Amino acid sequence: MAKGNISVDSENLFPIIKKWLYSDKDIFLRELVSNACDAVTKLKKLAVLGEADISADEQYKVTVTLDKDAKKLIISDNGIGMNAEEIDKYINQIAFSGASDFLAKYQQDGDKENSQIIGHFGLGFYSAFMVADKVTIDSLSYRKGEKSAKWVCDGSMEYDMTDGERTERGTTITLDIAEDSEEFLDEFKIREILNKYCAYLPTEIYFEVVGKEKEKDKDGNEIDQKPINTTNPLWMRKPSECTDEDYKEFYRNTFMDFNEPLFWIHLNVDYPFNLKGILYFPKLNHEFAGTEGQVKLFNNQVFVADNVKEVIPEFLLLLKGVVDCPDLPLNVSRSFLQNDGYVKKISSHITKKVADKLKSIYKDDKAAYERYWSDIDIFIKYGCLRDEKFYERVKDIIIYKDINDKYITIDEYLEGDKKTVYYVSDEKIQAQYINMFKEQGQNALVMPSVMDTHFISFMETKLDGVKFERIDSSISDAVSDEKKDETDKDKELVEQFKNTLNDDSLKIEVRGLKNAQIPALILLSEQSRRMQEMYKSMGQQMSYMANMFHDEFTLVLNSNNELIQKIDTLSDEDKTLAIEHIYDLAKISNAPLEGEQMTKFIERSQKLLGKLF
Ligand code: ADP
Repeated sequence: MAKGNISVDSENLFPIIKKWLYSDKDIFLRELVSNACDAVTKLKKLAVLGEADISADEQYKVTVTLDKDAKKLIISDNGIGMNAEEIDKYINQIAFSGASDFLAKYQQDGDKENSQIIGHFGLGFYSAFMVADKVTIDSLSYRKGEKSAKWVCDGSMEYDMTDGERTERGTTITLDIAEDSEEFLDEFKIREILNKYCAYLPTEIYFEVVGKEKEKDKDGNEIDQKPINTTNPLWMRKPSECTDEDYKEFYRNTFMDFNEPLFWIHLNVDYPFNLKGILYFPKLNHEFAGTEGQVKLFNNQVFVADNVKEVIPEFLLLLKGVVDCPDLPLNVSRSFLQNDGYVKKISSHITKKVADKLKSIYKDDKAAYERYWSDIDIFIKYGCLRDEKFYERVKDIIIYKDINDKYITIDEYLEGDKKTVYYVSDEKIQAQYINMFKEQGQNALVMPSVMDTHFISFMETKLDGVKFERIDSSISDAVSDEKKDETDKDKELVEQFKNTLNDDSLKIEVRGLKNAQIPALILLSEQSRRMQEMYKSMGQQMSYMANMFHDEFTLVLNSNNELIQKIDTLSDEDKTLAIEHIYDLAKISNAPLEGEQMTKFIERSQKLLGKLF
């Protein structure tokens, strides 16, 4: 029996591994199972090269066995195997140096926040000591005439090497689960970890629980166990071999989203870097609109993490999908990823592919593009705000719904050298203004969302000299007369309104509107409204600032309207009712009345109705 010492330092390595990785113990199983799959992949390659004598119908597999009573978890494969020298080389020397490099990095980085390592790759085999107080390797190499070899280590810096017990090619790793890690003796916990990390590994993986009866069919025959994984996930296949139904099924199974995705992009790059994946544009669930997407990052079919924004551009995290980057250096910190050229290339490649896909739908199937728009609108606008390059790529395919329910681009809207874009932020409230616009043959864009508010400011920086104005901010096109000096009659009218409304500072103008039906309307300048909204959004203590802009609107009395013309003929009491009501009606078409104002409006309406009899 050989005894050896893994130690280079006097310190014990394993308590440190345990301590540092405490928050993410689960990954030990991913490391061991993916090592087992690697061992199979290596053997398959050798067989293809004719360097290993393996029958063509060989059943390669990895088995994870849970033995609760013995407190053991066993990972076994029929892959390449190792002889004693190989164990010495790969486990005692190389794997150990991987583990100690890892520790050095952790300790050097100091605080855990900054040294957050994605997936903790690179630790490999030794991560087993996060959960085990004894680890045994029993292995038989694929080469003819080799002896099996056994390595045992109890978490101290010493190991024992003896002859092994394996009689068939492959490796068995046995973990004696430590007392403080007994949650890993739970069947459901193990199944959960396998499903999370190993669901797409390339070798069939079976999970067995010692003492648990095998499932039987109705005739009492044991049902063949199914592997827990899919060995050939859709993203690894050629796009030409995948059907729409394949993509939809993969989407359903992976994201548990039973709404069909709108469309998808199959990423498949071999050169100059390796990248595979599928990105789905989800149908927005309007009930929970704005829900986060989920992009799963894989490394050679091994799950690494969800939503790694260093690799997948942040705005693409609104999508759902899988991205497999086999060359990604994963044993590094996030700050490294942020600055890594390779990662940047992946990220900009993905952005380009997404833009290309959108452009091709716009070009080839405009009707579908318009149908998708309400679902992709927020994503595209957010992308533009977050990524200048993305905006440059998609700027010509951003469309807007107009007040006639048609989709147009901003260039189409601005045709004839227009410099103002009128928009509607609430179709119901601004219906009055929309009708006026329609009557005048004018158009406006419907931009109701919070995202639109930001997008408007963004677009103003992009479109030279173009301003966005809400539909209720100007009447320049709605008036039939030139602005002229106030007549005495106008002055009198204004005075009457001010007196009745008991508001001296109220700005009132008398103008002739083309639409004679409207007695009055309110105009709120775009700029003051934006200021007002900004202060409001900044919270309570700014509300006095918001109030400063309260008076920034103008009440326009329509001199073409019969009511306004004849208001003088009314009795004093009726005149008061009429003026208050006209004012409220004008306010309503601008914003809903609140609280007491609404109560008063209703009471007055009832009074007015009463006058009919
Ligand atoms: P990595 O997998 O990143 O190389 P590990 O520490 O996980 O690092 O493993 C070190 C080495 O040990 C592997 O590269 C491999 O050569 C060998 N090894 C580990 N597990 C097995 C196994 N199940 N079968 C054969 N060789 C293995």
